[in-house]
Amino acid sequence: MRRIYLKKGREAPILRGHPWIFSGAIEKAEGELEAAGVADIFDAQKNWIARGFANVKSQIRVRVLTWKNEPIDGDFFSRRLDRALSLREKHLSDTTNAYRLINGEGDFLPGLIVDRYNDFLVCQFFTAGMESFKGDIVGALGDLVPATGIFERSEGKVRNEEGLEPAAGVLFGEAPPDTISITENGFKFLVDVRGGQKTGFFLDQRDNRAFLSTLARGQTLLNCFSYSGAFSVYGFGGGAKSIVTLDSSRPALELAEQNLALNGFEAVDGELLKGDAFAYLKECKSNFDVIVLDPPSLAHRRSDVSAATGAYKFLNLHALRHLSPGGVLLTFSCSQHLAADLFQKVVFGAAVDAGRKVSIVKKLGQSIDHPVSLHHPEGEYLKGLALRVLD
Ligand code: SAH
Repeated sequence: MRRIYLKKGREAPILRGHPWIFSGAIEKAEGELEAAGVADIFDAQKNWIARGFANVKSQIRVRVLTWKNEPIDGDFFSRRLDRALSLREKHLSDTTNAYRLINGEGDFLPGLIVDRYNDFLVCQFFTAGMESFKGDIVGALGDLVPATGIFERSEGKVRNEEGLEPAAGVLFGEAPPDTISITENGFKFLVDVRGGQKTGFFLDQRDNRAFLSTLARGQTLLNCFSYSGAFSVYGFGGGAKSIVTLDSSRPALELAEQNLALNGFEAVDGELLKGDAFAYLKECKSNFDVIVLDPPSLAHRRSDVSAATGAYKFLNLHALRHLSPGGVLLTFSCSQHLAADLFQKVVFGAAVDAGRKVSIVKKLGQSIDHPVSLHHPEGEYLKGLALRVLD
């Protein structure tokens, strides 16, 4: 067993429930440290305080799994998965069969993401510790959810930092088809879990799409950074008069076209545009009643934040200029490093420069299946504002 002793006084955040221990907090470590795996954490007085996954390759040396002296085994994962599933089952409508089943730290399983798309599950193992329990986790998932297949799509920055290569493939049952059909609040979408963005669909925006549909009746909409066109589908579902759906990616627009058709909106007044949202917003000559701005993360690292604020300001300034009097802007940032208060300040600067008077109608965030641990505010990455311009 690996044993990690913290420096004097460095146990406080862990005892309060934060799951991350950085290298600077560690006094000494004992045991098989070369291989990542389960470690016991002790304070400077050698009192046991927690148990988690340790990896010397990562700056985040330990991700805590439990503050109770319980074994980390298949039963442990079954209990945590069961807890997570019951939250989703209680709260999601029966017209939704796609959701995030495990949201890492938010479900007290740091390093693990599991998304359900109809009868398939897609897993992402981000840490070497979680990866070493892959068999137990897949077994527990298979027992809990009647899945036709479980697919892995593990990639990204955290995995690199853990010293792991990307991994993709079938972990259990059947291979997923090229596109899986899902239903979200009664709307139908196609999801490509192999080649699509993230694990195939932006599940975190579900509630915000539903909110948009309540604003859409009779309105003209612009959906920037549309990806699967999901906001446009909800917009037409809510009775929008016309929608411009804009993305820089050709495959994304083709997917959006398929999704609009699948929901019976191919004949309505819509336009699918391939282009750069920054250039479009600057040069566009039309105004819209409702605009959605959902860019990809513009700050991947803390050091990107200052440059990213400039890009967010540009987008929001030009979007606000193109709103009809009384129009609504749904604006988002999914950059974990950009705090909600800074995002609001950036949007305020954009409103001042656009010369518009703006009120916040609603503050928006990630859907219920993306819970954030109160002890790990870093998990709150998606923030949004629904704004209304006066005139
Ligand atoms: N709103 C979407 C998710 C958006 S993801 C949903 O609800 O599912 C971000 C999208 O922005 C991606 O599809 C990507 O292709 C697109 N994108 C990235 N840079 C862009 C740019 N400069 N202009 C337009 N689209 C861009």
